[in-house]
Amino acid sequence: MNRRAFLAGLGALITVPPAVATIEVIRSEIASSTTAPPSAALAASAPGLLSAGGPAKPQLLPPPPASARVALPGTGVLTVLPGHGDLLAVTVDDGVDSNVVRQYTQFAKDTGIRLTFFVNGIYRSWSDNAPLLRPLVESGQIQLGNHTWSHPDLTTLSRAQIADQIQRNQTFLSNTFGVDARPYLRPPYGRHNAAVRAVAADLGYTLTTMWSGSLADSTVITEDYIVKMADTHFRPQNIVLGHLNHAPVTHVFDRLADVVRARNLRTVTFNDVFLRPRTTP
Ligand SMILES: [Zn+2]
Repeated sequence: MNRRAFLAGLGALITVPPAVATIEVIRSEIASSTTAPPSAALAASAPGLLSAGGPAKPQLLPPPPASARVALPGTGVLTVLPGHGDLLAVTVDDGVDSNVVRQYTQFAKDTGIRLTFFVNGIYRSWSDNAPLLRPLVESGQIQLGNHTWSHPDLTTLSRAQIADQIQRNQTFLSNTFGVDARPYLRPPYGRHNAAVRAVAADLGYTLTTMWSGSLADSTVITEDYIVKMADTHFRPQNIVLGHLNHAPVTHVFDRLADVVRARNLRTVTFNDVFLRPRTTP
């Protein structure tokens, strides 16, 4: 597990490591996927976009080809994407507000941005939006990860309670979306310890999936501050944390996408970056 720098030691935990500030950007020389969402058809079917927001903007860059995927790291803590490149993992959590989940999903449809949602199945937003989400989940544009059933601090629970939180949410994801979220577990509040990681790993959640930058929107903050956080943290190989809980972020999707475009970043899910586990425990 020591072979990759992005695996933080199993000891140091709650504090988010500093963002990697000096990664050299090396554009992939591998030809990109040729499939792209039909932006022309979208514009034609939604002329209001043109009058409301000016000329339609291009779709975001596609992910690298499947042949560029790398082996999953072993059990450990993931805080940044491996290597040096042009990738950005935008990960958004919880789902307190059904409208925010819906609008984030529509944002993905409109721009081609690739997202990972860390789901708490207890929120009805996931069932409410399942019909809208399913095609994007099935295409791989949106990946669903396990964020526990009801968002407790896992470090305060017994081993049996930790397992129940993970498994109940796994069952929900399987029943609602046909998804196996393993091996990606994001512990609520980013809180974990050796016991949490051991229980999770026994259930196949071998990667404690943290982050290297945040939109800081777990509480209500201003739209401008969200954009400022994106400007700071949308950098190559970062894993950025956001939330599906409060409306302000939904008012700045255009500005977030502009940051991605201006830096020629490729948004990715974890499944875009890592090979899937060969077998599941
Ligand atoms: Zn959360």
